Amino acid sequence: METPSGPTPPVRRSLSTEAVHAGREDLAELGLHAPPLDLSTTYPSYDSRAEAARIDDFATTGARPEGPPVYARLDNPTTARFETALARLEGTESAVAFASGMAALTACLMVRNSMGLRHVVAVRPLYGCSDHLLTAGLLGNEVTWVDPAGIADAIRPDTGLVLVETPANPTLAELDLAAVAHSCGAVPLLADNTFATPVLQRPAEQGARIVLHSATKYLGGHGDVLGGVVACDEEFARKLRQVRFATGGVLHPLAGYLLLRGLSTLPVRVRAASATAAELARRLADDPRVTRVRYPKLGGAMVAFETAGDPHEVIAGVRLITPAVSLGSVDTLIQHPASISHRIVDADDRHASGVSDRLLRMSVGLEDADDLWADLDQALDRAMRDGGPVSGTAGAAGGAAGRKQGVAG
Ligand SMILES: *Cc1c(COP(=O)(O)O)cnc(C)c1O
Repeated sequence: METPSGPTPPVRRSLSTEAVHAGREDLAELGLHAPPLDLSTTYPSYDSRAEAARIDDFATTGARPEGPPVYARLDNPTTARFETALARLEGTESAVAFASGMAALTACLMVRNSMGLRHVVAVRPLYGCSDHLLTAGLLGNEVTWVDPAGIADAIRPDTGLVLVETPANPTLAELDLAAVAHSCGAVPLLADNTFATPVLQRPAEQGARIVLHSATKYLGGHGDVLGGVVACDEEFARKLRQVRFATGGVLHPLAGYLLLRGLSTLPVRVRAASATAAELARRLADDPRVTRVRYPKLGGAMVAFETAGDPHEVIAGVRLITPAVSLGSVDTLIQHPASISHRIVDADDRHASGVSDRLLRMSVGLEDADDLWADLDQALDRAMRDGGPVSGTAGAAGGAAGRKQGVAG
């Protein structure tokens, strides 16, 4: 009987196959079927000379330490399985996992900032907190916001990253990644692939050097794990590991376990939810109570739409659909970006990037399409009957005024 010879299989397999096997190649040899969950924070070693050498090696190279782990902030074998699997799905050499999507983005910025490259070129809209992290200058970045066509001209000698999302949160605006990657020249393109997932789009194949995920969303897929991950070449991964070790935004091993488990059903979940989302987008587009529908050409399980009635009444009216921020779960969620996911972005910037006060963002899950439509139908009726139209879209006008500030995703 043949056993796998190492972590990298000799042939490139299809995504569905990789989703259930990547990161698990050694299990049969270990006599296991389910991956082991290692919750250790520290590891015994009677050989402190060897441990010193492993620490030196990590400090100089940032490569994953060989041999037994030293300390959980440096490396964890359960999390490493998830990293191996995600890198395989995204078609990159490596991946580095973090405590959340925002911790992952922070680490990417810190790698470049530490090289004196603090200027970022970015295309709006981005996820609200990503926009905020850049705009507020929390990490000392300076940002130039551009249209995709303006990327090349905005690049300066101190530009460290170009940052884009496609489809973007929350408008689902799409851009041509290959064209954008070309405009970046030698500056690394960071593509946030949270919405598309590697099932629909692999940005590294189109020239993005850095692919970021809020693993909290589709990769986990069940609304019970917070995590982030960066898929990239091993050179950048080494710098990310060093930043992660020094700043501590590590993924908990239980989260790593759950994310690896989530990856195994990712292709099935994304394809099934996308088919339902496409059907709901068609019905919304034909509905007179809906003034605008955004559904990506790429497909996917996210639908954004604007209502003739008050969007707050749609949120108040849903019964099967969960009125909650976040996305990518097995159940359908709906939220009002101007009130929640993008509340932290200045209202003028929000409006200029297409996030109107009427926009609702729906993450379609695995329920039956007709059941979801019945729920939307009665909530849209309520919005027309009880809410009345939102008056105006600028500044304090409209339904978002006076709502509680929120910053979640
Ligand atoms: C949610 C989200 C993030 C942030 O991820 P967290 O896991 O919530 O920190 C980043 N980018 C996009 C596109 C998101 O939707």
